[in-house]
Amino acid sequence: MKNEKGSLVRPDALPASASRPVVTPLSPSVVYASDTPDMLDQQYEGGLQGYTYSREGHPNADVVAKRLDRLEGAPCPGVMTSSGMAAVSAVLMGLTHAGDHVIGGNQLYGRSLRMMSDDLPRLGIDTTLVDPGDIDAMRSAIRPNTRLMLVEVVSNPTLRVADISALADLARETGILLVIDNTFTTPRAFRAFDAGADIVIHSVTKLLAGHSDVMLGYVAAKDPEINDSLRVFSVTAGMTASPFDCWLAERGMLSFDLRFDRAQSTAARLADHLGSLAGVTRVLYPGRSDHPDHARAASLLGGNYCNMVSFELNGSRPEANAFTRAAEGLSFAPTLGDVGTTISHPASSSHRALTEAKRTELGMSEGFFRISVGLEDPDTLCEVFTSAIASAVSG
Ligand SMILES: *Cc1c(COP(=O)(O)O)cnc(C)c1O
Repeated sequence: MKNEKGSLVRPDALPASASRPVVTPLSPSVVYASDTPDMLDQQYEGGLQGYTYSREGHPNADVVAKRLDRLEGAPCPGVMTSSGMAAVSAVLMGLTHAGDHVIGGNQLYGRSLRMMSDDLPRLGIDTTLVDPGDIDAMRSAIRPNTRLMLVEVVSNPTLRVADISALADLARETGILLVIDNTFTTPRAFRAFDAGADIVIHSVTKLLAGHSDVMLGYVAAKDPEINDSLRVFSVTAGMTASPFDCWLAERGMLSFDLRFDRAQSTAARLADHLGSLAGVTRVLYPGRSDHPDHARAASLLGGNYCNMVSFELNGSRPEANAFTRAAEGLSFAPTLGDVGTTISHPASSSHRALTEAKRTELGMSEGFFRISVGLEDPDTLCEVFTSAIASAVSG
């Protein structure tokens, strides 16, 4: 009872309780006290499970990681990182050496592309960007020093589907690590390890946490040594996830499967609805038979076509402005996976650095939008799009 004397700061112990909390306690403690140096030795050497310093690990990260490991069927315990990009960085920087070569999908998430084109070359790592739907092109990009291939299953924002089974065969045959960023598809639609991934990455920020109030990432590898390298690098580089973010993510993940199923079924409905509207020139949804990769999506995703829909308005910038202004109740915001529907406009955000000609070539005109479908009532959502598109395209 040192504390009762008022001379010392920290309490000796938490109050005793024969029962335990149903909700995971939030553990913001950075430091953990051990009883003796002998005990600390055993903690470091693995004989005793115990936390020491939260950059190295903490209970809230382990609770969320375990949940993700289960969802992904991860063979080794995954690592929580402070953002999805921290997980991407842990792979691209923690597993490569100067002189290595890395292949990336040519439609990766914008910051992953930037790391490929700007940062890795600066560190002496060569990179090549290739269409992951074109297995011959992927194969021709391989060099003797190729270390890994980083791909996303469904691309942003044109929703093309990578040829994952061929890539998994290629990885097996060559020993090159297949790294899959499973953020868009989530383990609900795609179990990346089962499909042959060596490493799986998530931006937990998106659908998994699901409420746009947490920034968090996850990475896990099949090989225990590689998994350990990822953990050590992320700790050394300070990519640690905050306990509060992990705690919020755990809360969000309790409803993940329900949210995913609901958003996905509304997305399918909205895609068909958009296809029936006069002001819409094109709809992209992997679940539609007119999608260029529909057959591949059907076989890879087991009937899950996810919650992202892209479409093109018949118009250019003035019509795009009028549409976002008229789309009341929807957030015009460059993110995805929120409980609310969000719309983004690649020409003014993710793909603004490209020339207009290049964007047109990629199918991202000024009228092109990407929708991340949320949990709204499907009828209401369809009505909002009907009236916003009608007023934008006629006016
Ligand atoms: C958002 C996103 C990332 C980056 O995640 P952050 O949590 O924002 O750092 C990486 N990959 C994909 C596919 C994403 O959508």
